Amino acid sequence: MPLLIATRNAHKLQEIREMLPGIEIVGTDRFPDVPDPEETGMTFEENAAIKALAWAAATGLPALADDSGLEVDALGGAPGIHSARYAGTHGDTAANNTKLLQELAGVAPDKRTARFVCALALAVPGCPVETLRGACEGSILETASGCGGFGYDPLFVPRGYADSFAALPDSVKASISHRAEAFKQARTCWATQLATIATS
Ligand code: IMP
Repeated sequence: MPLLIATRNAHKLQEIREMLPGIEIVGTDRFPDVPDPEETGMTFEENAAIKALAWAAATGLPALADDSGLEVDALGGAPGIHSARYAGTHGDTAANNTKLLQELAGVAPDKRTARFVCALALAVPGCPVETLRGACEGSILETASGCGGFGYDPLFVPRGYADSFAALPDSVKASISHRAEAFKQARTCWATQLATIATS
């Protein structure tokens, strides 16, 4: 039985495929008539669960969803679940990054701590939905650096490194990111469910 990945993002779908070897993965493009659910949750976990449950119910397939974003301590955890639309328009990376730098203007380097968070939800029809979270600690630069990655990557330096995610090699981000951490946990915590999906 395939596992449906509840994302419209082809880049993320490919990343997830690589993190779950041995499992047949299908994307939402197989189901063009299924509408995206509204993400009305107050936490990353709630939003991931809403997406996984909606896609499992609509397709009858086990569904895995993620919800991710950036939490900045000096901003009380903002942008948090609003990371994709922090400056108003969904996915406007340049505006989001500009707003983040403005909000942090005058905040000293040692007070610019932050983390990327990735919540995963697994909904298997007939079973309760399960969630887990991975995080990557770091801090926010005063100016953008690097041209790789996406989103807030040019502003985020993972703890223990001197460069931003956008300046570091992809292989570094792939091994220490919030998403990598969440999938490490998923392979352990959901080993039974994933093995059942792979063999049924
Ligand atoms: P979503 O979970 O795909 O909706 O991601 C929410 C938003 O969080 C994205 O639009 C980005 O702004 C931000 N984000 C999530 N993961 C990353 C990452 O790995 N790098 C940079 N930004 C990220």
